[in-house]
Amino acid sequence: MTEAGPSLSVISKEGQSYKILLEGISIALANSIRRVLLAFVPTLAIDEIIFDENNTSFYREYIAHRLALIPIKTVMSYEELADNYFEPKAEVDMALDAKAEKDEVVYASELKFPDGSVATEHPRIPIISLTAGQNLRAELRAKIGTGRDHAKWQPVSATSVINYPIIKINGSCEDCAKCASACPTGAITEKNGKLIVVDEALCTLCGMCMDQCPEAISVSGDPRRHILSFDLNGQLDARTALTAALEILNRELGNILSQLEVLVNEEKTQ
Ligand code: SF4
Repeated sequence: MTEAGPSLSVISKEGQSYKILLEGISIALANSIRRVLLAFVPTLAIDEIIFDENNTSFYREYIAHRLALIPIKTVMSYEELADNYFEPKAEVDMALDAKAEKDEVVYASELKFPDGSVATEHPRIPIISLTAGQNLRAELRAKIGTGRDHAKWQPVSATSVINYPIIKINGSCEDCAKCASACPTGAITEKNGKLIVVDEALCTLCGMCMDQCPEAISVSGDPRRHILSFDLNGQLDARTALTAALEILNRELGNILSQLEVLVNEEKTQ
């Protein structure tokens, strides 16, 4: 019997948290996709600031640090992101102009692109507090970069890869439900005096159920199916971030293959 080819599907999406099912690949490759997604997919982040006016109570360094950590909308295709991974070029200018007539908080919604649009998907991130009469004006430049250089460029956080859980309730289960009480995620539960599996995808393979009733329940990981979990930080949508990760991995492997072919050809001609 031939094995099914690789496939990818969405298990769940809650807000900006995603669980993706990767099938037909090894855990090593699934983890490579996670690593590239986290540390190699480029995004824009504020990297240069000229303060035109700052009569607030805060040092410029402090304000600059807070501004740099605001996720900036990165409107690029996955091919453009991959191009910018290999040859970083993209940058975009922004402006910040806040004048306080009363005590107020400056939010990320004050960060504007040259066309006047708000530069972030998270406009309610607070930057600093101003008292009446204080002003903050700055010219900012966001540059393309990757998470391996600084976390401000990471498109995702809280990433993980696990084998897809397989939960088996064995014949010796007496439905005491001790394992269901121990389960921290609700993957298993007791209903009408019976132990049932609610959703294998909720399982984290923690093993706490097996500690309670090792004879009655067994949990293992499927070696050819994996769950990739991540939270988007706000620069990219999930489809663009994932396809950019795959494109970068593909081009990196293609480069290695080309170099290998050159070596093989050189050996043949010697
Ligand atoms: S391994 Fe952990 S998460 Fe999975 S079913 Fe058992 S207790 Fe729940």
